[in-house]
Amino acid sequence: MPISDFWHEALGHLAPSTMEGSRNHFDDTGFIPPLPQNFHCEASAIGKSAHKASPSTKSRTAQKAELIYSDLCRPFPVPSYGNTLYYISFTCDATRFCWVQSLRKKSEAPQVISHFVTTIENQENTVVRRFRTDNGGEYVNERLRKVFTSKGIIHELTPPYSAESIGVAERLNRTIGEGVRAMMHPIDDRRLWAEAVGTFVYTKNGQPHSALSRKTLYEAFHKTRPAISHLQPFGRECYLHILKAKRGAGSKLLPRAQKGLFVGYTDVCHQYRIFPLKRNELQCELMFTFHLPHLLYCLAKEVLTWALRILTQVKEGSLFVTDKNCTIESAGNSM
Ligand SMILES: [Zn+2]
Repeated sequence: MPISDFWHEALGHLAPSTMEGSRNHFDDTGFIPPLPQNFHCEASAIGKSAHKASPSTKSRTAQKAELIYSDLCRPFPVPSYGNTLYYISFTCDATRFCWVQSLRKKSEAPQVISHFVTTIENQENTVVRRFRTDNGGEYVNERLRKVFTSKGIIHELTPPYSAESIGVAERLNRTIGEGVRAMMHPIDDRRLWAEAVGTFVYTKNGQPHSALSRKTLYEAFHKTRPAISHLQPFGRECYLHILKAKRGAGSKLLPRAQKGLFVGYTDVCHQYRIFPLKRNELQCELMFTFHLPHLLYCLAKEVLTWALRILTQVKEGSLFVTDKNCTIESAGNSM
């Protein structure tokens, strides 16, 4: 895979124009090459189609998580490996940072929302003051009303199909849909949609946003630039080391690794969610993979190619040694 394609995919099929202008917004981005002029990604063309993006709404609140937008997606046609059919999204108005959680049933929404609010307030030392949603049954119910009342949160309801309701939260769901279609284009297994949604949102939080003067959502929320050297294209094939404890007795001649697909990130850097190909009836597992950072991989490949080229030239006699200190020079064409 060419390195420009690798980064386009690892960054969640980021638009080429945005990718070109994003270099200064990552912590470790010096190695992203310029995209070729005729760059084309079939998965993006098919997954994103050609819709006219709605104008971006400007941020209104100053404090992060003060106002949260939320929306529940329509059910997916197939359950995920965790048997979920929906996902609920949350977007911070001030920073556009977003979160998703997949659900088995719509009725799980109040509990998930309550847990989200408590977590965000504790972890980020902030206070959720307003919560904006449409008036679907998953948001308008006694259970959630009690949660909001006890926390002093104002629940702002927007009528369906109004300009407000098709704002931030629904635009996010549409963006997620487009990104996930592009990411899953080369993958046969539709049940991996929940992993694709999570991975897309993780990547999206590291993308620059026009409403934030092209800063990344991550930087707006965490006040520090994101690192991207660990990013991987969704569905990339990899090898999983089979732990000794799982090999069992008499496994001396059995394989030490199995093939898998990269399907997401964890909170631990360089620990990925891998989907084992031969055990696809199971849920995704958290496994350690021995992952060579991409930069190192490219460098090693370059050095190897270079060394092979010299060896070939020496063998063919087109390269000669000029002095006793073994300085080598090309005899003809430049290397
Ligand atoms: Zn693409």
